[in-house]
Amino acid sequence: GPLAHKTDSAEEAGTPPELAGVSAGAGEGSAVLLRRKRVLAELSPLERFRLRYLCVTDVCGQAWCELQVVYGFELPHVPKREEESPEVKAGASIHLARELEVHDVVSVSAQSREDRWALKILNMLSMLPILQAGGWVRELPVFGMLEGVFLVGVIDELHYSHKGELVLSELKTRGLRSLPGRAQERSHHFQVRLYKLLFDSMVRGLLERDAFVQSLNLRPEQPLGSGVMEHAQKLGLHVHTFGGVLELALMTLSYSELPAIDVLKIEYCHQGTSDAIGTREVSFDEAGVRAELRNHLSYWIGQREPRGVDIEEAWKCRSCSFEEHCEWRRERAENATASNRTKRFK
Ligand code: SF4
Repeated sequence: GPLAHKTDSAEEAGTPPELAGVSAGAGEGSAVLLRRKRVLAELSPLERFRLRYLCVTDVCGQAWCELQVVYGFELPHVPKREEESPEVKAGASIHLARELEVHDVVSVSAQSREDRWALKILNMLSMLPILQAGGWVRELPVFGMLEGVFLVGVIDELHYSHKGELVLSELKTRGLRSLPGRAQERSHHFQVRLYKLLFDSMVRGLLERDAFVQSLNLRPEQPLGSGVMEHAQKLGLHVHTFGGVLELALMTLSYSELPAIDVLKIEYCHQGTSDAIGTREVSFDEAGVRAELRNHLSYWIGQREPRGVDIEEAWKCRSCSFEEHCEWRRERAENATASNRTKRFK
């Protein structure tokens, strides 16, 4: 069926209401500065960046370098090296080509936050019958509360194997004709494991209305914009408000007989030729994944400071967009100079 595009990420970024009136203009007194610092310190990063949810890709980015993800929110104007790379562009076009094999992508205009969420939910709803009938789906939106934080992601592909197992397949494009190193692989594995956690809890009927209304602060009574309403009608769904879409989704999921995901796979392919490089099957241990997730989320809920890369993984900084801004890196360089100086004096 036709599939509406697309997701937004930090849609609610901006100045937190708590900081309104705390100006940062010229001639600002030190008391104001102090107050600003204190307010910032009291807010958790989720509140400070005004994020009501996190994207799975952000949480997985933390497995690569947490501080890099944080700088992505703090310094949104620094151009991203990885976004500009031909590898990423080629990856996006391979993804789209694959998606077009199974869906017509249509663009639907969204007029409100509720409209944007309704589109994600409608996309997901339009794919459930296909999966139920044993078909393939691509770009399936998944979301839900995990460990107290609302997470959102998009599963590249779901299909059934010849043995009847439900297989998740994640496509990764590579500039080199080789499989990724261990550090990158770790983050990829975590990504597909989180997708499984989200999908499984959705088909088990564990999504809750409150998560949308309270955590995401969406208004159920908000009427759908005309574009979204027409799109829903084309899918055979007669809904008029965001709450209507939500109820329908919760009901469909709680009556769905879809299985949990049985197999997690990552397919690596070459960016230039789209040739397959190799496929990796990923193990799953729910307690382990949840523990890793809690560790990442503890930064977002304000339990600890963000961390940069380990010293033995400092090579990651060479491809980082924030290399010149990074305090972690600067401190390390200063420590290294200080210890060199000490050595010289000895
Ligand atoms: Fe992380 Fe290194 Fe980038 Fe700093 S420079 S954000 S430590 S990857």
